[in-house]
Amino acid sequence: MRVESDLKLGFKDVLIRPKRSNLKSRSQVDLNRTFTFLHSGKTWTGIPVIAANMDTTGTFAVARVLASHLMLTAIHKHYSLEEWREFLTVEDEEIFSRIMVSTGSSEEDFLRLGQVLASHPQVQFICIDVANGYAQAFVEYVSRVREAHPDRTIIAGNVVTGEMVEELLLSGADVVKVGIGPGSVCTTRVKAGVGYPQLSAVIECADAAHGLGGRIISDGGCTCAGDVAKAFGAGADFVMIGGMFAGHDESGGQIVERDGRQYKLFYGMSSTTAMAKHAGGVAEYRASEGKTVEVPYRGPLTDTVRDILGGLRSACTYVGAAALREFTKRTTFIQVAEQENRFFT
Ligand code: 5GP
Repeated sequence: MRVESDLKLGFKDVLIRPKRSNLKSRSQVDLNRTFTFLHSGKTWTGIPVIAANMDTTGTFAVARVLASHLMLTAIHKHYSLEEWREFLTVEDEEIFSRIMVSTGSSEEDFLRLGQVLASHPQVQFICIDVANGYAQAFVEYVSRVREAHPDRTIIAGNVVTGEMVEELLLSGADVVKVGIGPGSVCTTRVKAGVGYPQLSAVIECADAAHGLGGRIISDGGCTCAGDVAKAFGAGADFVMIGGMFAGHDESGGQIVERDGRQYKLFYGMSSTTAMAKHAGGVAEYRASEGKTVEVPYRGPLTDTVRDILGGLRSACTYVGAAALREFTKRTTFIQVAEQENRFFT
């Protein structure tokens, strides 16, 4: 046993230090990024924020809204081929660069992924998502998907340390998804005692990925637009969001009414709720590692999207970054013992 004693940081432990700037207005800030990916060689331009591949946020309805803002959606893996067909025959070509096909790492997932891509060859991104990206079998699965789909941009995760980011990039991933335990409905840190504070995970993993020409997604833990800014400041190329996109018209999840108020269910993909829905219950050998919560109904998703994009533009303006591309190198974090003033909350 060994203890690493340098303190690892989460979003709540830092603020971004303002810097002198000659930007006149936040409206001048360009939030688009252009990436050419390591293995696929494909180029993508857009605002690098992604809706999580949960069955409540990775919906076709969310994808339509986010695509209109040039953002991405990782479509959850529980849609049938029929539902995919219905969605993509009605959509225009632009949507293909704004969605990801999500998959797990089972044989059945591999076959289904092949079927979705065969019927929708224009879809650029594959998101291979497992809770624990450290298993050798997962690394081999990523290589297998790379071999089967050489031209697609492959995202693989989740991991939180540099050596595993390198391993996944060398095994065929273009982008590595980073985050174990920070999610709003995740209980891994409570159930398994495993995790890594997200800000440090992003700083360390971005360094490892960028050295090899790869990219990373900061996945989970954003509770407000300021956290999204901190994730980009720490070096994330993309930020993935679940909870902040929950509770809207376009989000999935059953509506609950209580005391004249509307709520929408939001749950982790390893929660008892999700496992009852998709896997016929929680298997005996495992614990549920996700919560189920009721989110007060929040109206159209566009309002939240504007809030996040406005916050990001503001953050860029405070440090003098005319484009999101410059934001990381202009970011200095200060470690703090306070965040917002909660007098009126
Ligand atoms: P949020 O933005 O809500 O903080 O985090 C979203 C992320 O939480 C997802 O992209 C996914 O990585 C993670 N997540 C979703 N469901 C579960 C779950 O049931 N258990 C765990 N450990 N993580 C989850």
